[in-house]
Amino acid sequence: MGFSLARKSGARRRAYTGYLRSGAWAWRRTRWFRDCRAAGAEPACQVCGTTLAVAGTLDLHHTSYDGVYINDDGTYRAEEPDTDLLPYCREHHQDLHRILDERRGDYWGWNRRRATAVVTRILTRKHHQRTP
Ligand SMILES: [Zn+2]
Ligand SMILES: [Zn+2]
Repeated sequence: MGFSLARKSGARRRAYTGYLRSGAWAWRRTRWFRDCRAAGAEPACQVCGTTLAVAGTLDLHHTSYDGVYINDDGTYRAEEPDTDLLPYCREHHQDLHRILDERRGDYWGWNRRRATAVVTRILTRKHHQRTP
């Protein structure tokens, strides 16, 4: 059966780290980028618009871990819907996580999707101020 990472609070952080290093995630990631291109869109950073073609690699941020399951044998099932994943360049993905961490208090009680959307707007505004 296994359990959803999103619903199990104990050792969750360790489970995320394990998941992000797993083959299940590597394949889910590859599929996300492939499906995005198949739908006719070039994946691009949500903040600066740098494309996968230009950057060579982009990070995928989880707006929710509801679709990630850990099986009883310790392997993972990657069942995130496409909409739970958003591409960022490495720099802006790090900025996103830094601000989410710093403002954890302000965003307490918000879901991750909403906090991600708000911080992405803040970062995008800053980015356009620097490069009009
Ligand atoms: Zn970027
Ligand atoms: Zn992330």
